[in-house]
Amino acid sequence: MKIHEYQARNLLASYGIPVPAGKMIEAIDAAAPAFKAATAGQGSPLAVIKAQVHAGGRGKAGFVKLVKTAEDAEAAARFMLTTRMKSPQTPPEGLEVNKLLVAAGVDIAERNGGGREEYYLAITTDRTTRRNILIASREGGVDIEQVAHDNPSAIIKEPLHPIMGLEPFVARRVAFALGFKGKQVSQAVAIMLALGKLFVEKDCSLAEINPLIITPPTPDQPDGRVLAIDAKFNFDDNGLFRHKDIEAMFDPSEENHAEMRARKFGLSYIALDGNIGCLVNGAGLAMATMDTIKLCGGEPANFLDVGGSASEEAVTEAFSIILSDKHVKGVLVNIFGGIMRCDVIAQGIINAARGFRNADGTSGFKVPLVVRLEGTNVAAGRKLLEDARKDIPTMQAATDLGDGAAKVCAAVKNR
Ligand code: GDP
Ligand code: MG
Repeated sequence: MKIHEYQARNLLASYGIPVPAGKMIEAIDAAAPAFKAATAGQGSPLAVIKAQVHAGGRGKAGFVKLVKTAEDAEAAARFMLTTRMKSPQTPPEGLEVNKLLVAAGVDIAERNGGGREEYYLAITTDRTTRRNILIASREGGVDIEQVAHDNPSAIIKEPLHPIMGLEPFVARRVAFALGFKGKQVSQAVAIMLALGKLFVEKDCSLAEINPLIITPPTPDQPDGRVLAIDAKFNFDDNGLFRHKDIEAMFDPSEENHAEMRARKFGLSYIALDGNIGCLVNGAGLAMATMDTIKLCGGEPANFLDVGGSASEEAVTEAFSIILSDKHVKGVLVNIFGGIMRCDVIAQGIINAARGFRNADGTSGFKVPLVVRLEGTNVAAGRKLLEDARKDIPTMQAATDLGDGAAKVCAAVKNR
């Protein structure tokens, strides 16, 4: 599960990581008052208006704006709340922006040798080493992906101890490697350790601060202050049951509609880019089904595991979720009847397909449907499918997975 930046900032603050104050708003006319609140007490007012969407690349897309007056704050809010944000991390049609963060703006120190004092800091799980790792870079900010690609030696990686987590001596080593000086070191170390604690305690799969910045020197703080001004979190869904506070931050408007609906019915559904819908029982079988479709030159439109039972109700719901994707040109059903008998499953599929209500109000299954059944009572199941072809003409039975994939790929080819 992902959360918004304004929520991430609150979480950082609750672990003692310094973040500039801010407020989330949802209406254009809330921008001017929020600007005034964020800049109260500042000598020369500066605020930052930021789109709150579950995608990065906002700065480059023009959805992070520094403003100096309430009028500019309102203009930025109007633009962001009425324009879809497009970045390399959004779908091509962009994302609707419904929430903004209005935060106190901060000055970022200039770096000797050019650029500004923006750092990257993250903790995530490294699947190759099967350890959590701290990733840090002196070249943080909006170009971090480019840095990782062009200059990987500028990225520091430190594995975390499996039991001890991020240890202070490791954090200090990283702080020095990043070039922090004087009082910056203890500030950066405290931030890293707090992030390490948060990562473990909240079952994160990603805890990222980008950028972590240094403010310009002042007489009382000659080394400046180290602050987090953007953060991104991802939580392990399987750990959410023990974090009601995190679960409460869930924003359904940011989720894929079909995936949400599937979750409600206990189906595991992930939307993909292809045109062959897959309805399978069991995650391993679903992976094998997608692989076989690919092998036959097709592209799966989704991953869908209906679970062990594959009841008529679950199949009906699954059909309707799969076909709500306009790209779907054919469906492959691949069910193994282990505990359930194939004839019962076949009857469920037939009933679901027969009674299927299309989005246009008509009933009956219109796109090619290939069904592969295997397991207990498979002969009776296949017989039922064969007999049902007269009123579901788009349906074909397959003898095995290879045959099923070939048939569905052939069926969608010219559609
Ligand atoms: P992202 O592009 O979605 O990662 O959004 P960020 O919040 O990281 O903002 C992008 C960039 O805007 C940062 O890397 C900073 O250079 C700049 N920025 C964001 N907030 C401030 C601020 O308060 N003051 C200044 N001077 N720059 C900021
Ligand atoms: Mg950022």
